[in-house]
Amino acid sequence: MNAGRLLSVENLDVDFGVYRGRSRVLNGISFNVDKGEKLGLVGETGCGKTTTLRALMRVLDPNARCSGKILYTIAGQDKDIYAMNAAEMLRLRRTEMSMIFQDPTSALNPVFTVGEQISSVIRANLVAKQESFSKNSITEKAVKALADVFLPDPERILESYPFQLSGGMRQRICIAMSVATERNLLLADEPGTSLDVTIQDQILRLINTLVETKGMSFILVSHSLGVVRKTSDRICIMYGGTIVESARTADLFASPRHPYTRALLACVPKLGGAGIAEGIPGEMVNYINPPAGCRFHPRCTQAFRACREIQPRPVALGDGHAVSCHLYATGS
Ligand code: SF4
Repeated sequence: MNAGRLLSVENLDVDFGVYRGRSRVLNGISFNVDKGEKLGLVGETGCGKTTTLRALMRVLDPNARCSGKILYTIAGQDKDIYAMNAAEMLRLRRTEMSMIFQDPTSALNPVFTVGEQISSVIRANLVAKQESFSKNSITEKAVKALADVFLPDPERILESYPFQLSGGMRQRICIAMSVATERNLLLADEPGTSLDVTIQDQILRLINTLVETKGMSFILVSHSLGVVRKTSDRICIMYGGTIVESARTADLFASPRHPYTRALLACVPKLGGAGIAEGIPGEMVNYINPPAGCRFHPRCTQAFRACREIQPRPVALGDGHAVSCHLYATGS
């Protein structure tokens, strides 16, 4: 259920200094997330999904250059994340947003117990909100957070080090840390992909239930349309650092428009389908020297002259469905 805008990304560009020049990874991306809305960000590995999440948290590498606007709504006021000072940004991260990383092993510190790590997140949140607390109240919240992600014997797990637990348990602990305190926006970067498929499915269902129960907004990044279909109200398709199509989930599956979206859909395995999909021929964009015009044109079977020269702008198709492709531009 949507009740107003929470996040608005406007024309975001990100580039990184590399030894051969600058790598232009994000190229003018724009999207919104409403309160309580679940958004899927989908594309091949290397398309800029993780960079987008890191830009939202303002945790990009120090050599990254960022332009555009990211507006976050707090108490009815739009705040530009990149205009915040360090203290304001820290408070935003500790009270409003949290992120689940792809690899639970590297997300947890091996030299501290699970209890110490969850407690420090809870304590930082309470300090940022200027709320009083005691050691017992923090432990109670930590135990509840572990129980919320269905970890058995939470008291014992609080005393454990990450290496003493399985990969699935570590991923649940990362989720518990993200939802242990009240937040409005959860960002998840391919959670559970380092685990086997059945555990990954359980992890996604768990996150989805928690997000819905707590009324959080959610951005799920994945390379798989099949994965985000189950957990997203709306989907943005990314290719080569641009958003090429966005639509409500049902509309995107019923009526995909962009040639890249159609190619991605053809890669989703189907029960009783005709064999294994072969993937999309061609290489991902070279970000140091990206193709002119539409970044997908070297791989697009429908490319024509304008595609090689002019970058397509988003075309609104109605009902929140938009596509950036010359095939849909007026007059084409
Ligand atoms: Fe293909 Fe041209 Fe559309 Fe790009 S703009 S997806 S190259 S038809």
